[in-house]
Amino acid sequence: MKYSVEDLDFSNVNDKLKHLSESEIVEIINAYYGGVKTNTIIDEFKIDVGKSSLYKIFPPERLDLPCEYCYRPMLLPLKSKSGYTPYNDINAYCSICEHTNNVFCQCENCNKKREEALVKKEKERKEELKKHKEIIDGILQSKKTKVLEDDLSLEERLYLSVILRATLSEELNVILPLAYSNTPIAPGSEFGLSTLNQTIFLRAFLLNSTGVR
Ligand SMILES: [Zn+2]
Ligand SMILES: [Zn+2]
Repeated sequence: MKYSVEDLDFSNVNDKLKHLSESEIVEIINAYYGGVKTNTIIDEFKIDVGKSSLYKIFPPERLDLPCEYCYRPMLLPLKSKSGYTPYNDINAYCSICEHTNNVFCQCENCNKKREEALVKKEKERKEELKKHKEIIDGILQSKKTKVLEDDLSLEERLYLSVILRATLSEELNVILPLAYSNTPIAPGSEFGLSTLNQTIFLRAFLLNSTGVR
């Protein structure tokens, strides 16, 4: 690839290249990557730099990749022609806000963005917890509500009568816990305690929490 003036960013030219015009710098860069010996370039253009450091003072390439904060083109340092330096887009940076094109960027904007994301996540977590608490409170509240006998469905009355038969004390004023009952709730396992509709059981139980109506 041959560079042209438009491909490079000359806003902060290295002091060691300041005696050269933009087109001369481009010429040097193209000569460097075109295989001309580095020493030859340094001598010809009178550049005061060691031959292994020449590429380090080249102006960066202007990428077709806008900074996500400034919307200016991201810049990419030119790599050594030996190619050992693994430069790619993650080495791109913004000369305005110092943002770099990778997830580890520590620029002010990225740090702020990460902080805001954390705050948002924490807020969502708290809202989720609050929602769960409201649901649980609602359930607990509904269990505290007594049910009028008249509101019980036929099925609920049936269950209630079964439970009462099994658990009502001789004085008819105390409902014993089902575990104390010697009388089976219902013949066969399909209507046993394990399959008893829990909601109906609770409603029936709460109905009698202050005594039999
Ligand atoms: Zn930027
Ligand atoms: Zn950044």
